[in-house]
Parts: sequence; structure tokens; C-alpha cells
Amino acid sequence: MFRGTRENDSGAEPTEVQETDTPVEDVAYYCHACERLITRARWVIRHEGAHEHRRFNPAGFVFRIRLFSEAPGVAVEDVETEDFSWFSGHAWSIATCGGCGLHLGWRFAQAGSVFFGLIRNRLVMRITSD
Ligand SMILES: [Zn+2]
Repeated sequence: MFRGTRENDSGAEPTEVQETDTPVEDVAYYCHACERLITRARWVIRHEGAHEHRRFNPAGFVFRIRLFSEAPGVAVEDVETEDFSWFSGHAWSIATCGGCGLHLGWRFAQAGSVFFGLIRNRLVMRITSD
């Protein structure tokens, strides 16, 4: 029923290995600049069949983003728009690190559906004990 996103989004390159021996509850993602806790592996979601997506912005920059249902460590800007949205029907807002202000990704929202797309190489994945 969904279009064939697997070929488009996750076919070419192998995604980085997840820490398979570690329970997902124990993996967290931190801002790579200030090490603030941003989100956790337990909030990983898939959209159109994939957790990780490659997207281009109108200026031609490519972003590899990972999707999460929650990201308590970000601050979301008030401005929301549907222009050039990467996920149809979803308005987006800029999401920055709540600690240092680094642009970490975007929040995507439509009625009944909110998720975060966070730029892969601006997060550090680490095993946590809390
Ligand atoms: Zn930060």
C-alpha cells in the first residue's frame, strides 16, 4: 500500500550497525556538540517503512535523518510551515538542541501525528545507565 520507499531510502548503503547486544531501553542519543540527552532508542519509529531517511532541502543539501516519536532534549521553534515538507501533509518546524542551540533536525506534525527527524551525524549514540 505504501510506495516502494525501501529502494529509495535504504537500498544503497548499509545503515550503521545498531548495538544489537544492548537492550534498546539502554541506548540514548546525545547532542554531538554539548552532549545533552536528546532522545532514546525506545522512541525510534518508522515512517513509510524506514527509520532512516535521506532528504534534500531546496538548496540541494542532503540530510540523513532518523525518526523518533519523542525528543525531549530539543527546543522547537514556533514557526511552522508545510513548504517543501519531506513528509506529505506534515508541517515542519526547526528543532534545535535545548542545550547549545545547534540545529538538530525538524519536528513534523499533522493531526494526530507528530514525530522528529533528527540529523544522524549531529547525534552521538551511547549506552546509558539511567
Ligand atoms: Zn547541544
